[in-house]
Amino acid sequence: MKNPISLCTLLSAYILFSAMPVSAADEDERHHNAHTHGQAKLNIVLDQGELFVALETPAVNILGFEHAPNTTTQQAVLKQANITLSDSQNVVQVTGGDCKLMAQDIDMPFTDKHQENSEVEHDDHEDHEGHTDVHAEYTFKCANESLVKSLNVSVFKHFGAFKGIDTVWVIGIHQRKLHLTPDATKIELR
Ligand SMILES: [Zn+2]
Repeated sequence: MKNPISLCTLLSAYILFSAMPVSAADEDERHHNAHTHGQAKLNIVLDQGELFVALETPAVNILGFEHAPNTTTQQAVLKQANITLSDSQNVVQVTGGDCKLMAQDIDMPFTDKHQENSEVEHDDHEDHEGHTDVHAEYTFKCANESLVKSLNVSVFKHFGAFKGIDTVWVIGIHQRKLHLTPDATKIELR
């Protein structure tokens, strides 16, 4: 079974295996938010001058639907969503550290790219109830890691369906969790 390991998977593993006591409440929360419309997950790792940002969200938050587009309006929504996510500024804005975007990977369902990647394996992002996720990953190179001060999660502004984003960020040995909402979009890293 061909199943390439994505950065997202690596990040999740990194965060899962990081030394951090996990309470029963945390476990409940994690399961509860596996695919909940309106909610999403954001993983952030700052390490050795590189800043990784991975957004995992139900497609409905981005597109308003989770099936192949069947109207010209839905096709246009899909196209526009791809364009919006392709500009990292529309997802996260980094303050401090002189960080420049080096790479990005937008895994959008119902697009040519997604189908190419999903020839053999699929269901990675689609469960049996017909739900579909969108993954967007960004890698920044920061000239001065110690000066990376904060991140503003701008995805709320560009996609109104986001009601909450469970955020985990890791800097070196430090790990924090934060629940962002449309009224609280800023992550202070220091
Ligand atoms: Zn869904």
